[in-house]
Amino acid sequence: MGLNIVVCVKPIPDPKYYNEITIDPVTKTVKRQGIPTIINPIDKHAIEKALKIKEQHGGKVILMSMAPPDAQETLLEGLAMGADETYLLSDRKFAGADTLATSYVLARGIQKIGEIDLVLTGTESGDGATAQVSSQLGEWLGFSHLWGVVNCEVKSQDDIYLKTKIENGYMEWSGKLPMVFAVSREINTPRYTSIMGVMKAKKKPFTIWSFQDLDLDEVYVGLKGSPTQPGDIFSPDMGRKGEILKISKEEAVELIIEKLRANGINIESFFSGCVRGERNE
Ligand SMILES: Cc1cc2nc3c(=O)[nH]c(=O)nc-3n(C[C@H](O)[C@H](O)[C@H](O)COP(=O)(O)OP(=O)(O)OC[C@H]3O[C@@H](n4cnc5c(N)ncnc54)[C@H](O)[C@@H]3O)c2cc1C
Repeated sequence: MGLNIVVCVKPIPDPKYYNEITIDPVTKTVKRQGIPTIINPIDKHAIEKALKIKEQHGGKVILMSMAPPDAQETLLEGLAMGADETYLLSDRKFAGADTLATSYVLARGIQKIGEIDLVLTGTESGDGATAQVSSQLGEWLGFSHLWGVVNCEVKSQDDIYLKTKIENGYMEWSGKLPMVFAVSREINTPRYTSIMGVMKAKKKPFTIWSFQDLDLDEVYVGLKGSPTQPGDIFSPDMGRKGEILKISKEEAVELIIEKLRANGINIESFFSGCVRGERNE
């Protein structure tokens, strides 16, 4: 059958560096410069699904990302997993994009490649986590779309079986290509990347498209094309008060109890609960 599959992959800040992320007080956008990125973890499940479909039916797995130019290194991991090529959509004009402006640019990138049968995404990202991009992509592209896919079998172009998770169970669907669907973690376990995979990744096609390379209407792009604007964003004060006391253990216990009482904590009921085993934290 030979299917052309695009997997949308978002580089997100590496959670190890979350405490270094700040918010621009004027634009209210997240300042990510200099923070190492990783592939959004759920997107690896989407890559895995695409690779499995390719193994079954042949075709191509194409990664696509809208991100700053330094995302190249991060995207190599997706190529190392086995994807065939990558398109990075990168331009200063894309900065400040909300989900609608992001999905618009991604959709135009997909249309420029042409003849795409299937677009896969993760259900949500680890940073923005709006879970909107997948459905918006379906709308921009005019493809059927489904969110929260936990199982999928592509039997032929006109016979796709899908299963999604809902609050109290599952729903089964049948569909036809072309289609966009967002996968959940449950769908599979992403494969590990091998050294060979990493070495091959560096030789695979990697294309960067800017604003000028895509057929874009400027009014739908970046901050200008974003109907949602952040309101007041602030980092909560995580500072804690500290006091160093150079006193004996006994004095310290008394002082702590005194301070807890002064803050309205009922020490007697707290400790009697502990003795009865009601509190085990
Ligand atoms: C008002 C506003 C302003 C913002 N300004 C900025 C900004 O200045 N800079 C900035 O970096 N972010 C900005 N963002 C965040 C930005 O909109 C989101 O990062 C992006 O649109 C994706 O949304 P999400 O992470 O919630 O995606 P979700 O919908 O949660 O992601 C679902 C899936 O869609 C795919 N996907 C999502 N985003 C991308 C992408 N970029 N490339 C490829 N695939 C993708 C992935 O497969 C992902 O698993 C802003 C958001 C808002 C609401």
